[in-house]
Amino acid sequence: MKNNLRIINLLLFLSLFLSACDMQAQKKDEKGRKTNDKDMKLNELTAEEKAVIISKGTEIPFTGVYNNHWKTGTYNCKQCDAPLYNSTDKFDGHCGWPSFDDEIKNAVKRIPDRDGRRVEIVCANCGGHLGHVFEGEGFTDKNTRHCVNSISLTFKPLELKKDTKKVAYFAGGCFWGMEYHFAKAKGVTQCEVGYMGGKIQNPTYQQICTGTTGHYEAIKVVYNSEITDFETLARLFFEIHDPTQTDGQGPDIGEQYLSVAFYGSEDEKQILLKLIALLEAKGYDIATGLLPVVTFWNAEEYHQRYYQKKGQKPYCHSYTKRF
Ligand SMILES: [Zn+2]
Repeated sequence: MKNNLRIINLLLFLSLFLSACDMQAQKKDEKGRKTNDKDMKLNELTAEEKAVIISKGTEIPFTGVYNNHWKTGTYNCKQCDAPLYNSTDKFDGHCGWPSFDDEIKNAVKRIPDRDGRRVEIVCANCGGHLGHVFEGEGFTDKNTRHCVNSISLTFKPLELKKDTKKVAYFAGGCFWGMEYHFAKAKGVTQCEVGYMGGKIQNPTYQQICTGTTGHYEAIKVVYNSEITDFETLARLFFEIHDPTQTDGQGPDIGEQYLSVAFYGSEDEKQILLKLIALLEAKGYDIATGLLPVVTFWNAEEYHQRYYQKKGQKPYCHSYTKRF
């Protein structure tokens, strides 16, 4: 499947490269852009950028700066700076170009290609060429892949006002699955997986896998306190893992997979106690431990955004309504 996709993409690249050399098309597009966008302030483009954005060419796969890029923020139009894609919608399509399964509302326009087979995507604001959109490939739930040239984009990292940036920490089994669900939650701006609670400094995955270092596989959830709050995230925590399991989580058994909620203040501790009491009143026998926040050690890079990079879904975590 992956190899076939690479061959198809290489063929697409060659055909697009030829069409990029079509000077007739270039003249028409440049003219169209000028007449449509009298008042729009456009950035100066290099010859390489023009070959893609104006002449609808395609960059060589696996060469773009955003192909393997997983920071939090928005991907904006290189030509007009309009925000086009959120980093939360990015996944690894293994095709050599940045892949997104959704666009920012009304930011991207779809145009049937002249070849009658594919659908071109352009910036809805300036008409700059982005790439193509494909449906029905089954990569993610949305079943859509915007295949975008890196060179058509500019990444803008998310900047939070300091007083609205808050952090919460949870442990609930395999951290890949925990991250998968928290990363989708409203108001969450960044997630990192790592290790908390153990005895040694800077633990490695190999060390914590022994189940003897005292570390839990944990997740650091950075959120915007104007959009969400600790209680909302803590409720989600109790609903995306089984807080009644006493020996681990799902098939993952061991001390490092135990359910633990960390509190950074007395207020947060009281919220957790309230939620546990609510669940126990509903008949759940809660096994979740409560611990004060201690040092969070980031896990190795290959564990970060694991499911997002793989385009897969967790084996161990799913949402169950409990409140
Ligand atoms: Zn644009």
